[in-house]
Amino acid sequence: MASHYSSGKVVIYEKTKPVSTKQDLFNDDIYGTISLHYTILATQNMGFSLFILVATIATAVAFPMNHLAMPHGRLTDSSACLSWRWAVETNNIKYYSNEIPDNCSDYILSYMLGSQFRKDSKLVCDVAYEYAKGVNLTGDGMDVWIFDVDDTILSCVPYFLEQGSWELNIQSTLGEWTRRGEAQAIPETLNLYKKVIELGFKIVFITGMHEQESESRIKNLKEAGFTEWEKLIFKGNNELAYAEEFKSNRRRELVEAGYRIWGNIGDQWTDLTGTHVGDRTFKMPNPMYYVP
Ligand SMILES: [Mg+2]
Repeated sequence: MASHYSSGKVVIYEKTKPVSTKQDLFNDDIYGTISLHYTILATQNMGFSLFILVATIATAVAFPMNHLAMPHGRLTDSSACLSWRWAVETNNIKYYSNEIPDNCSDYILSYMLGSQFRKDSKLVCDVAYEYAKGVNLTGDGMDVWIFDVDDTILSCVPYFLEQGSWELNIQSTLGEWTRRGEAQAIPETLNLYKKVIELGFKIVFITGMHEQESESRIKNLKEAGFTEWEKLIFKGNNELAYAEEFKSNRRRELVEAGYRIWGNIGDQWTDLTGTHVGDRTFKMPNPMYYVP
C-alpha cells in the first residue's frame, strides 16, 4: 500500500533514543531524562546550538508554564505554534503530516509531554462522559461507544521519541514498534472507557492498524487495561481505503447489524467524519500528524 504521507522530516532531536519506550510516559520525569541526554551530548560536543537546546529544555523542566511564553531557542514564536495547533485541531489545516513547522517541533513535543495535553484530554473525556450519562440505554446490548486506538487510547509518543522525528513511517518503523506491544494507555481515555462500560455501553474499537498487527495489538491493549470489547476492528492487510472511507464502512456495517452508535471518540478528524459517525463525536488532541 502506498503511503499517504509526504516525505518531509521534522527532527525532534539530533540523537535517537533519549527516552526508553518502557518509561512510564505519563508519570516519569521524561523532561528530566531528555534534559540529561542533552547535557551529556553538550559535554561531548560543546556545540553552542546544543547548549541552547539544553538550556531550553532545562528551563522547560524548571519553569514549564514560562517555557512556552519565553522567547529562547527555537521557541521564538510559540504563539504562532499555538495558532498552528488550534488550526490543526479545528480541522482548518489538513494534510500536514510531516509538515509541522520547523520552529514548532519543540513546542509540539512539550505539549504532548506536558500538562496541557493531559488537561485537554481530560476535558474532552469529561464532556464525553457527561453526554454518556444522559443516554437512555435500552439494555439490549446494542448500544455502542466507538474508540479509535492509536493516540486515542494508546499513545504513540514513545514511537516518535525513539525515532527522533515526527515522521510516521507506517510501512516500516511504526509496524516494528507496534509489534513490540509497548504502547501505553492514555489515562484519560482509559478512565472514560471504564466509565462508559459501567454505564452499560458496549465497546467497539476501530483502528486503522492492519490485521497483521492484531496479535501484538490485542496483547498490548489488554496489558494497558483495555480488557474487554464487543468488537475490535482492524483494517484489512490489503485494504487501500483512506481512513474516513474505511471507518465509515465499518460503522455502516455496525448500524446495519442493529447496533446504535452513540459516542465516537478519536484523535483524527477522519475518525469522526464521513457517514454513520454516531450521535456525538469527541475529538482528542493530536497535533503530531494528520491521517487523511
Ligand atoms: Mg488515532
